[in-house]
Amino acid sequence: MILDNIQKIKSDENPPHHADMVIIGGGIAGVATALYLAEAGVKVVLCEKGRVGAEQSARNWGWVRQMGRDPLELPLTIRSLELWREIDQRFGIDTGYRETGITYVCRTRAEIKEFSDWAVYAEKANMASCKLDRKGLQEVLPGISDRYSMGLHTKTDGRAEPWKAVPQMAQAAQRLGAVIVENCAVRGIEHSGGALSGVVTEKGTIKTERALLAGGAWSRLFLGNLGINFPQLKLLGTAARIESAADVPQMPVGGGDFSFRKRLDGGYTVAQRNANVAPIVPDSFRLMPEFFPTLLSSWRELKIRVGGQFLSELKMPRHWALDEVTPFEKIRTLDPLPHEPFNRNTLKNLAKVFPGFADARQTHSWAGMIDATPDAIPVISEVEAIPGLFLSAGFSGHGFGSGPGAGEMMAEMVRGVTPRIDPKPFRLTRFKNTHSEAARIAA
Ligand SMILES: Cc1cc2nc3c(=O)[nH]c(=O)nc-3n(C[C@H](O)[C@H](O)[C@H](O)COP(=O)(O)OP(=O)(O)OC[C@H]3O[C@@H](n4cnc5c(N)ncnc54)[C@H](O)[C@@H]3O)c2cc1C
Repeated sequence: MILDNIQKIKSDENPPHHADMVIIGGGIAGVATALYLAEAGVKVVLCEKGRVGAEQSARNWGWVRQMGRDPLELPLTIRSLELWREIDQRFGIDTGYRETGITYVCRTRAEIKEFSDWAVYAEKANMASCKLDRKGLQEVLPGISDRYSMGLHTKTDGRAEPWKAVPQMAQAAQRLGAVIVENCAVRGIEHSGGALSGVVTEKGTIKTERALLAGGAWSRLFLGNLGINFPQLKLLGTAARIESAADVPQMPVGGGDFSFRKRLDGGYTVAQRNANVAPIVPDSFRLMPEFFPTLLSSWRELKIRVGGQFLSELKMPRHWALDEVTPFEKIRTLDPLPHEPFNRNTLKNLAKVFPGFADARQTHSWAGMIDATPDAIPVISEVEAIPGLFLSAGFSGHGFGSGPGAGEMMAEMVRGVTPRIDPKPFRLTRFKNTHSEAARIAA
């Protein structure tokens, strides 16, 4: 269902033979970079193996949020919000962005502690987030169950429409001169004297000295073929759409076991917050040392699943030649099945939050593979072992909101302009042993 609802763009037929910059992947990370580069006059080509915006970028909840973010990531998300506010007007598009505010509501002691701590941090950082007591909660969310005794509210957070935001940005980039080719998997890159000299696609080679890999959940596989170990695992996120509900707020709201966001089509996107499936795959063992601390702290939120994905990833080639058909051509769109027990719980939990949800009917459900790094912070960085190659991936479930900021930052890095946001927290080299094999290959 999800593919039918994603807005379509008019894809260019074939990639050109030369470009200033090639972007691999048409999710929000790649498309936002293409948009800001095209605006700056750079001749940019974006290759997407399936359809623009059809993987994580169309499947997310549509929350655009700074509240609750890791302080290291906060400047990027604050800048992103500034960009979301102006993006429609600046490029003549309609992403569905609305500055509605976002509220988290707390019931358990652990939730109250988590969000009280963040409220203290937000106050010190002079942010527009505030703690709400029971009375304050009723004012911001009239009709909410009195089971909730505390809330955290940020009035400058918002929401946008994932099914159209990225295609709209892609069309704006095309109008500014970007070439965007769908059904065009990138197989790998060519080197010359150690530096990047071309990008090899299933539709021919593009000569270029610079390329960005914005391949979402596929980035580890792509880099692995170049001898680079990018620590990235996939988590299955599940969501559903329900028909409209009476007297339920417009702003996105999240509690310990639910979340909802009003959609512009009148329904709500709902999900069980803090609940993802962690499929056991060969990479789970290879990356155990890097991810172990995160697993320890978040195991309650993960449903570990041993299933068919182990075998399918085991059989998937990890190395290939550039004249061979690659896994990127075999799987045009990662379209996993949702974990329906989560959706059933969501509906039960929502009915306890607002009476208007009691008769809600699920009309659609879907899932997406969230790409996560060990510290849940993305990589927006050069790949130092291969001069000319950049990486923007590993958004760990936050990348829709921070997409415009990440795109602007990457566009600045590629153009050699000092980024307005400090890029240090996002470097690939913060992870150990990423480059050794690539350095050997490039030498
Ligand atoms: C259920 C769910 C809920 C979420 N909710 C939120 C939310 O509310 N707010 C938020 O901020 N974030 C949320 N996220 C996370 C957010 O959607 C992602 O972080 C973000 O979309 C990542 O964007 P991306 O461009 O890095 O990756 P993607 O959108 O996955 O795009 C990567 C693209 O690269 C393409 N590609 C890969 N390899 C190749 C290749 N070799 N050649 C050509 N193309 C290639 C893929 O086909 C894909 O289209 C959620 C995610 C999920 C799954």
